[in-house]
Amino acid sequence: MSAESGFARYARPEFARLFRALHLDVVYRAGQGDHLTRELPGAEDGPPATEQVLDLVGGAGSSLFGHNHPELLEVARRCFDEQIPFNAQASVRPGAAELAERLSTVVGATTGASYVVTLGSTGADAVEGAVKHATVEHRRRLGALQEDVELSLRRVRRDGLADVACASGPAAGRPCAEVLGEALDRIAELRREAPVFVSLRNAFHGKTAGAGTLTHGGNVPEDLKVPGPRHRRLGDWTPEAVVGALDADRVEISTITVDAAGVPHSAARHLSPVAACFVEPIQGESGVHEVPAETLAALRELADRHEAALVFDEIQCGMGRTGTFLASEGSGVAADYYLFSKSLGGGLAKVSALLVDEKRYVPEFGRHHTSTFADDDFSSRIATAAVDLSFAYRDRITETGRLLRERLTEVAARWPDVIVEVRGRGLLLGVEFVLPRPESGLLREAIDSESLGYLIAGRLLHTHRMRVIPTLSAPTTVRVQPSALLEPADVDRIAAAFDDVAGLLSRGDYATLLAH
Ligand code: PMP
Repeated sequence: MSAESGFARYARPEFARLFRALHLDVVYRAGQGDHLTRELPGAEDGPPATEQVLDLVGGAGSSLFGHNHPELLEVARRCFDEQIPFNAQASVRPGAAELAERLSTVVGATTGASYVVTLGSTGADAVEGAVKHATVEHRRRLGALQEDVELSLRRVRRDGLADVACASGPAAGRPCAEVLGEALDRIAELRREAPVFVSLRNAFHGKTAGAGTLTHGGNVPEDLKVPGPRHRRLGDWTPEAVVGALDADRVEISTITVDAAGVPHSAARHLSPVAACFVEPIQGESGVHEVPAETLAALRELADRHEAALVFDEIQCGMGRTGTFLASEGSGVAADYYLFSKSLGGGLAKVSALLVDEKRYVPEFGRHHTSTFADDDFSSRIATAAVDLSFAYRDRITETGRLLRERLTEVAARWPDVIVEVRGRGLLLGVEFVLPRPESGLLREAIDSESLGYLIAGRLLHTHRMRVIPTLSAPTTVRVQPSALLEPADVDRIAAAFDDVAGLLSRGDYATLLAH
C-alpha cells in the first residue's frame, strides 16, 4: 500500500481527501534547515526524483531552529551513544532538573520570579496542567478562607460577641455571628461550583477537552466540541471592558476583626469563581494578532481582582520566535504561569513546560500530576539545548524578521485590493488575504474562506517550491513562520512568490491559481 492510500484509509481519511483535492498530497522524505525534500511522483523504477521546498510552515511554529539542526542532532546522538534510559520513573531525572532550572532562570530574568516547572509532551498537555493547577489553587484558597472565617466565628462566640453588632464597615449594625454565618454560606456555595476559566476572543490553546474549551474554534462544527471546564470568553479587549468583565460574578462577604478594646469591626472581602485567565500574547492560530500591552495589563488587573492566576500561553510565540525569549517581554506585564512547547523540542522532541510561580505552586501537584512520558532525559536535554540556541539566534531572528516583514509589507502595498495586511513580529508573521468574489458561481464555491489559504498554498508549493498553510482558525491568513536559519536570498524569494500570487488574485486569473 502506498503512503498516500495508507494515510487515506488508516490515518486521516478526511485530510487525505482534502489534500488530494488541493494537490497538497505530497510526501516529504527529509528535512534540513529551512528546506524539506519532497518526493516527486514519476518513474516507477530507480530512486524517486526529489526537489527542495522552502518550509514556511515550520511545524506550525515548532521548528524555530529548522529541521534537524546539527547542534540538536548532536545532543540527540549523544543520548543514544550514552544509552541513557528513555524512562526512569521514581528516580532523580537530571535532564528534567536541568531544563526546569534553565526555564525558571530564563523567564525569571524578565519577571524576577522563580518557577516550579511541570514538564509534559504537547502544548495542550501544558494547558491542561495549568487548568488543573489553577483549579487546585482556587479550591485551596477558598478552603483556607473558610477555615479563617470558622476560626473567627469560634472566637466571637468564645468572647461573647456573637450577638454584638459590628461597629463599622459594610456589616455595621449587624450581629457578628450572623455576618460570619452568611460568609460561610457564600464560601460553601462557591466551593460547590466548578471554577471558571477565562480566555479571549479568537484564542487558541489546543484541542483536548479542557484546552479546546478555551480555544475559540469558530470553524469547528458544534458536535466536535466536547464539554470542558466552565468558561467565559472576552470579546472586548479594551482595558476598561477587560478589567470589569466579570464583576457581576464577584460575591461580597464581610470578615470581622476585633480591636484592642474588644469592639468588632467588619471589612469587605470579595470571592470569585474565576480560577485563571489565559492569553496568548500574540495570537497565532487566529491569524497572528498581537494582544496590546494595555490588554495584557488589564488581564493582570482582572486576574488580581478575582485572585485568579494569569496564564501566558507562549507555546507558539515564545522561545525567542519574536526576538525576545518571551513574546510578552516588552509589555512589562508578568504572568503567574507560563506555557511553552513547540520549538522547545527543537523540532526533534515532543515536550512542553508549565511554569508556575513558586509562590503559588501547590507542592502536592507534582506528585499527582504525572505522565509516563514526562521528564524524559532525551526530550529534556534537547530542550535545554534549544533554549540556549534561542539566545544564540536572537539577533538573527530580529533582523531576518524585520527584513521579511518589510518585504511582505511592500508586496501588500502593491496589491491593496488583495492583501489586507501583514501582521506579527520576528519570525511569527501572517499575511491576510481579501476573500475574492469571482463572477462565476462555481468559482465562488471553490474559492471560499476555508479554501483560499490552501489554494494559495498549492500555487506556492507547485510553482515556487515553498510551503505555507493558513492559520487554523483564520484560514484567509497565510502563516509565515520560517526558522532562524532563513537566508536573505530566501526573503527575496518569499516576497516574489507572494507578489506572484497577489498578482493572480488581483487580475482574477483563477485558472492559473488553480492549475498545478
Ligand atoms: N497553545 C497555542 C498558543 C498553540 O498555538 C497551540 C498549537 N497550535 C497549542 C496551545 C496546542 O499545542 P499542541 O498542538 O501541541 O497541543
